Amino acid sequence: MTGRLSGKRAFVTGGASGLGEAIVRRYVAEGASVVIADIDAATGAALANELGAKTRFVSLDVSSEESWLAALATCDAIDVLVNNAGITTLGSIEEVTLDQFRHEFDVDVVGVFLGCKHVIPKMRPQGGSIINMSSMTGVRAQANLAAYNAAKAAVTHLTKSCALHFAQQKYDIRCNSVHPGAIHTPIIDKVLAQSDDPEALYAFFVSSHPIGRLGKPEEIAAICVYLASDESAFATGAEFRVDGGSTI
Ligand code: NAD
Repeated sequence: MTGRLSGKRAFVTGGASGLGEAIVRRYVAEGASVVIADIDAATGAALANELGAKTRFVSLDVSSEESWLAALATCDAIDVLVNNAGITTLGSIEEVTLDQFRHEFDVDVVGVFLGCKHVIPKMRPQGGSIINMSSMTGVRAQANLAAYNAAKAAVTHLTKSCALHFAQQKYDIRCNSVHPGAIHTPIIDKVLAQSDDPEALYAFFVSSHPIGRLGKPEEIAAICVYLASDESAFATGAEFRVDGGSTI
């Protein structure tokens, strides 16, 4: 590792497990200090404890404005916000209930909206980078992911709106979206557990990636290092697809 994020102060939602955990580990390895923000306090606090003085845990439910304000109040300045926390609801338009649809949006869209909005005072004085975790399914829809598709497409476009606003206001804040293909993390196990035929669904995940496999969390952490670093200073409002070719 080369200290590409030396001196950066990062805040990673959903940082306790999966992609968030991989991002946290890589950011710390690259010299950043990291706030791990998650609804899962036990796992998040254990990770912060393991990684030492460069990290700390803060409790956060991204769907709650009150929770965001309380978590951000513990931070002086933030250079990098990764809006990574998310859930996946499996089901077609006929299967997904209104409550499930609303819950998906509360976490995956409202959560990103609140993060982008309330981080501004912490980021504007020194500038920074916001990274919103969308998905390949925010680009290419799948019949059995109606709520998730819609939520991730909303994240894609909200990102562009933020990027344009920051540029127009001459804030030195960039905002980009990352679009992973299927990456083997706990979220995939949760989706498989919702399926009547987990083996067939897993085979479908693999077959939908021309590269012939699922991705690794480290492969998403890598693009998040680039976007957090000053190397990406000219990138804003862009969709970074790291998806094994699945959106070609
Ligand atoms: P994961 O389930 O392993 O981790 C999600 C983390 O978010 C967990 O630590 C969980 O506790 C936290 N979280 C859930 N709800 C929360 C809330 N309301 N407030 C705060 N934290 C909350 O999932 P993952 O695979 O690491 O996914 C991370 C992000 O990447 C999600 O936005 C997901 O939609 C996206 N993504 C994942 C994949 C994939 O295949 N794994 C693909 C594309 C996009």
